[in-house]
Amino acid sequence: MNPKKADFPYEYWKAIIDCDAAYDDHFLYGVITTGIFCRPSCKSRVPKKENVKIFKNAMKALEEGFRPCKRCKPEGLNVPTEEWVEQIAGWIDTHYSEPLTLNKLADISHGSPYHLQRSFKRVKGISPTEYIQRLRLEKATWLLETSELPITEIGSAVGFSSTPYFMTLFKRKMGNTPSGYRNAYLKTQALEREENEE
Ligand SMILES: [Zn+2]
Repeated sequence: MNPKKADFPYEYWKAIIDCDAAYDDHFLYGVITTGIFCRPSCKSRVPKKENVKIFKNAMKALEEGFRPCKRCKPEGLNVPTEEWVEQIAGWIDTHYSEPLTLNKLADISHGSPYHLQRSFKRVKGISPTEYIQRLRLEKATWLLETSELPITEIGSAVGFSSTPYFMTLFKRKMGNTPSGYRNAYLKTQALEREENEE
């Protein structure tokens, strides 16, 4: 078996690495893992070569479900801020269990951390960090109710970097410790079952 080779010329790859504006009229490139497409000259982080897909023009990229980069605006396409923020929120929804920072989010969404922070807050009413925390707590609550996983494992399963941090945040937002919450929940369930049996 031959190793998988990228199906585009080396000069295109070089143009991407060098952010060569001379190629902006020749092709655009999409990154499969983020679903965003860019001009060769875009200053966003250089993707892995195997994740790159070359497009002749923006129409082709759009047809395949790629979205224009907010930073380099291929062919002048503008991404409405609301849509951009919703895309980022959607990305968080499926990646919340990974280590996430504002810089990383800015990186994958091709915007500056400052702009991301401000836009996200304006559209969603909370900062990206608060959004991530809320989501992690929701998932943790669900795991406390439906699984027998130890508290430490629940914390890391939903993306908290440390158990003490998870416990502190949980207590602050939910008014109870994770184990206290679980016990109270199980008690309520048991009571309900008894009532149903009577
Ligand atoms: Zn770009």
